[in-house]
Amino acid sequence: MIDVLIIGAGPAGMSAAIYVQRAGKQAVLLEKMTFGGKIVNTPEVANYPGLEMISGFDFAMNLYNQATKLGAKVEYEQAVKIEDVDGIKKVHTASGKVYEAKTVIIATGAANRHLGLAKEDSLVGKGVSYCATCDGAFFKGQDVAVNGGGATAIEDAMFLANYCKKVYVIHRRGEFRAPEVEIAELKTKGNVEFVLNSTVTKLLGDGKLEGVEIYDSKSEERKTLAITGLFVAIGQEPANSDFANVADLDDKGYVLAAEDCKTKTPGVFTAGDCRTKTIRQLTTAASDGTIAALAATLYISQQGK
Ligand code: NAP
Repeated sequence: MIDVLIIGAGPAGMSAAIYVQRAGKQAVLLEKMTFGGKIVNTPEVANYPGLEMISGFDFAMNLYNQATKLGAKVEYEQAVKIEDVDGIKKVHTASGKVYEAKTVIIATGAANRHLGLAKEDSLVGKGVSYCATCDGAFFKGQDVAVNGGGATAIEDAMFLANYCKKVYVIHRRGEFRAPEVEIAELKTKGNVEFVLNSTVTKLLGDGKLEGVEIYDSKSEERKTLAITGLFVAIGQEPANSDFANVADLDDKGYVLAAEDCKTKTPGVFTAGDCRTKTIRQLTTAASDGTIAALAATLYISQQGK
């Protein structure tokens, strides 16, 4: 019987694992892909208090090392169902395994949102990417575009501007969500062009991306940008529908929970980007992980288990 089963080994889940282990309980993380979550794709983390500058990959690696050295276990399994049977949480995985736990923390994060355009899926790896850090190097000396107006888009554009010939930043509005300091820095780059109030309406090219059609909502004109790479950075979407029997979800699919990270099911908690909240940052993921872990260990002792 596992003390705390944590679904998702991103910053929230791994922070929770650290606190669970330090509370003398056993944490098991179920991770469907690779540990670290989306932060592994962030070139530089410069806003985590106490760490002036670190790569997202190193940050994730440090978390992983810290959690596993404390005794947390990581299983590469996709959780697909949580059953609450007389207080025991039975977590089923895609491979057919069933883990039994006293408590569960849902820390599934959120996946990259897609544009939903024709050919998008078939052009992934052939010009369309959701990760500039992973794929940017393939586009050295080429003309590319980043779509989005949040911190991810601006950081991706900055990263790509260092070695691509030209980087268009296509954003559907005139204002960005990214921090002003990052936008100001990007504006100093001579090879970056902002294409504002514009939406990507078509992906051009067969077999590989050759360009995009964009629609300018101000001029109401359509034009084509010849690019070989499109980096889509238009936010994230949660994937919690498998767990709706134990945790209520909001209309967008985020787990409904307050700062106490409690779901509607006693012994089932949630943490990080998958939870309803206004600010999704590394710091808030770590904070949720802490709160959920301590709530789970308190629940175990209150149940006398
Ligand atoms: P985000 O802040 O949600 O921004 C998504 C952007 O995509 C918005 O500008 C949005 O436009 C646009 N968008 C959404 N749907 C679209 C669609 N269908 N078509 C075209 N554009 C669309 O996402 P994010 O940049 O990935 O950031 C997510 C969270 O992580 C944020 O809280 C961010 O601060 C944080 N983050 C932190 C760091 C760091 O600390 N180093 C790095 C990256 C991200 P509108 O503005 O018009 O809504």
